[in-house]
Amino acid sequence: MIIVMKPDAAKKDVEHVIKTIRDMKLRPHISRGKERTIIGAIGDERNLANIPLTTFAGVEKVLPILSPYKVVSREFKKENTLIRINGETIGGKRVVIMAGPCSIEGRDMLLSIGKKVKSAGASILRGGAFKPRTSPYSFQGMGKEGLELLKEAKHLLHMPVVTEIMDTRDIDLIADYTDLFQVGARNMQNFSLLKELGSTNKPILLKRGLSATIKELLMSAEYIASKGNEKIILCERGIRTFETETRNTLDLNAIPVIKKLTHLPVIVDPSHGTGRRDIVATMSMAAIAAGADGIIVEVHEHPDKALSDGEQSLTPDEFKQMVKAIGRIAHAIGRTI
Ligand code: PEP
Ligand code: MN
Repeated sequence: MIIVMKPDAAKKDVEHVIKTIRDMKLRPHISRGKERTIIGAIGDERNLANIPLTTFAGVEKVLPILSPYKVVSREFKKENTLIRINGETIGGKRVVIMAGPCSIEGRDMLLSIGKKVKSAGASILRGGAFKPRTSPYSFQGMGKEGLELLKEAKHLLHMPVVTEIMDTRDIDLIADYTDLFQVGARNMQNFSLLKELGSTNKPILLKRGLSATIKELLMSAEYIASKGNEKIILCERGIRTFETETRNTLDLNAIPVIKKLTHLPVIVDPSHGTGRRDIVATMSMAAIAAGADGIIVEVHEHPDKALSDGEQSLTPDEFKQMVKAIGRIAHAIGRTI
């Protein structure tokens, strides 16, 4: 629920509400606006059922949050959340482009792709070190060695980086190397992982599960936010349908729907969303036109030799052309890249 304080509420009135929320084993979420303070009570609201908050000094009104996800809902917070990552802002006017290989395969390839995507307009470098492969016999990623390379690329290229985390046991390790934790589609409902990540203060890129509804995606975001970390970027990456021409069906409906339901930024992954290099650029343009705050795209210099996801990886030249096309769409809708 949300407790709206009166504009003239005294500091001690605000503190009393906050203490009551804590005493009842909920987490207070305080927004101090120009006019008034608004306090959210996060947790099991039944604990507050017998507390007459509306009669507390300084309280103007108490509003229930009707959606099942609370902290991440638009009801809870009207303004868009802006997420800052080393000088980059996600969720603002500027559309953010994250790009890089599906998997980190070695130093030269990572630095070379990184340099090219940066000069083409990408501002965040992606690269998987721990890979969630369908087959246990497929390349599983370079692990810690890959993380070392990613860190080197980050410093040499002056680019923030994003890499996937699959296991709670790797949180401390990966936190030392990445600017943004990626939770992959297969782990969207790994609730232990979500809860642990919610206790860190690093931004999270939360990808939609293979067959997850929008509501389930938002509930997963709530798992993270309920623990205190509200720096969450949602990612539409295609869902599984009966269609087989594409690897997944990129659900562009999700973008305006998510924007209505939550204040969190949302980006699109047209690489996994389509599985096909030949339509990645078109779907990126469509994603930006539909209101996405950015895209995350796989790029490889020799896609036919890639150790994972070559068929959906763009060459650096194709990526460069795509960024130009996205720029035109962004300008047409009043955004920049
Ligand atoms: C990836 O980004 O390489 C990846 C595995 O994505 P997803 O979790 O969306 O399948
Ligand atoms: Mn991939």
